[in-house]
Amino acid sequence: QIELVHVYKSYNGKENVIHDLSVSIKPGEFFVLVGPSGCGKSTILRMIAGLETITSGKLLIGGIEANDLPPSKRNLSMVFQNYALYPHLTVEQNITFGLHTKKISKQEQKQRCLEAAEMLGLTDYLKHKPRQLSGGQRQRVALARAIVTHAPICLMDEPLSNLDAKLRAKMRSEIRQLQRRLGITMVYVTHDQVEAMTMADRMMILHEGRPQQIGAPLDIYNHPSNTFVASFIGTPP
Ligand code: ATP
Ligand code: MG
Repeated sequence: QIELVHVYKSYNGKENVIHDLSVSIKPGEFFVLVGPSGCGKSTILRMIAGLETITSGKLLIGGIEANDLPPSKRNLSMVFQNYALYPHLTVEQNITFGLHTKKISKQEQKQRCLEAAEMLGLTDYLKHKPRQLSGGQRQRVALARAIVTHAPICLMDEPLSNLDAKLRAKMRSEIRQLQRRLGITMVYVTHDQVEAMTMADRMMILHEGRPQQIGAPLDIYNHPSNTFVASFIGTPP
């Protein structure tokens, strides 16, 4: 469903931030991009989203060449690290904000919002402002905003990094359950190998813009393809 074929990315003044990346992400898969800070994870996500151009190589979404497709036509939703909620809007208005441009009726917006709020335990908070919510609740609002788009693909960039360890563990399993229930394709970015190991159907380990290994967490753990992967994942020598 999402295919990257020999993709390279250079920024102005910074060459080969991504170097020869080829991967095929399957429909309904929970796919995790993991690697140390600065290895190029966000860059990959932003290229898939259309927020960053691809220097060379091909991106296909649902079999269609998507290199030049505008972000709004890619039929995906995105959740960022710093939720970016609008402080002056209510939870409900925050959740439906992205739907206004999509010619979706007020009634349908309300319906989708209630449905997402129900799934995420936000029903009692729809009239609240973001500042009246806890970190975990704000994170759920950001997730709800992605759900109401009904997009078949969701991209998440370190969505849990602002939360404490306990809440992070809880949200991991909530996100996993939600993804299964909705049957959507997930591309999830983290620098945390535990998060990757516990959430991924398959994962890709990245080092300095170069893909090191792609596979199921246990396969990678048991058969790391090089010493970087082994030490990053913590496979005993
Ligand atoms: P982190 O875990 O810290 O979020 P990351 O894996 O998401 O890191 P990227 O943000 O993709 O890494 O950055 C990859 C490399 O590209 C880094 O060396 C970064 O400095 C560089 N880079 C990112 N954005 C730009 C930009 N707009 N212009 C120039 N260089 C950039
Ligand atoms: Mg990043």
